[in-house]
Amino acid sequence: MFDSHLHLDDERLAADRDEVLARARAAGVSGFLVAGVDPEGWRAEDALARAHRDVFVAYGLHPWIVAHAADDEVEPLLLALAASLQGGLTRPVALGEFGLDASVRVPKESLPRQEGAFRAQLAMARERDLPVLLHILRAHDAALAILKSDRPPRAGGVVHSYSGPAELVPRYLELGLHLSFAGPITYASARKTREAARAVPQDRLLVETDAPDQTPEPLRPGRNEPAFLVHIVRALSAVRGENEAELGAATGANARSLFGIKE
Ligand SMILES: [Zn+2]
Repeated sequence: MFDSHLHLDDERLAADRDEVLARARAAGVSGFLVAGVDPEGWRAEDALARAHRDVFVAYGLHPWIVAHAADDEVEPLLLALAASLQGGLTRPVALGEFGLDASVRVPKESLPRQEGAFRAQLAMARERDLPVLLHILRAHDAALAILKSDRPPRAGGVVHSYSGPAELVPRYLELGLHLSFAGPITYASARKTREAARAVPQDRLLVETDAPDQTPEPLRPGRNEPAFLVHIVRALSAVRGENEAELGAATGANARSLFGIKE
């Protein structure tokens, strides 16, 4: 299995990070992609990738960072991101996470600023032909319009922790994107997410924990960790009527192929 999106650098995992990784490996997780959020995080990710050969990194500006920045702070952040891709830090296998968030967690007035940073990061990914990690929450129509006009990179990408309806799945597939499912697939209340998960062909499917957030059942509430990917694969295989071990292997192979990771 491959955990295609987590925040291993998060301070909530700092106290026992090596044990967290050891438990995940023992549970059958053989690769970890750490999603980038902000410049401080990219440096922490770099250190983790240097210490562990099964940890891979992506650098990006999370929509919440952009939403809470001042207008004149965004350009320097984008320049810092471009610089982080020039070398010095561990070579990323993707750009992200970035995207659009219109949930209650961010001020509505930030949407134009988020759109600007979304487009700028998409352009960076196209230039370098790096796959993208997209965070799209309650903003699917706006995000699809941008993706359709600007286009994703040829290398593709993934909508992480997909929370949109099944009807929009074909629109993301047409754009060449993968869809990834996280802890919510295990929640009794997530009927819409289960329908969406059935609409994704197996060769476009990824799994992730998004640890330390989005803890799956039956481990809620509490901190999430990558070993819990097992519960997500189990729930997803039940929803799709597929074999659990095969689905774990298939989503792992999809992730390695999308992110250009050998072995
Ligand atoms: Zn994330």
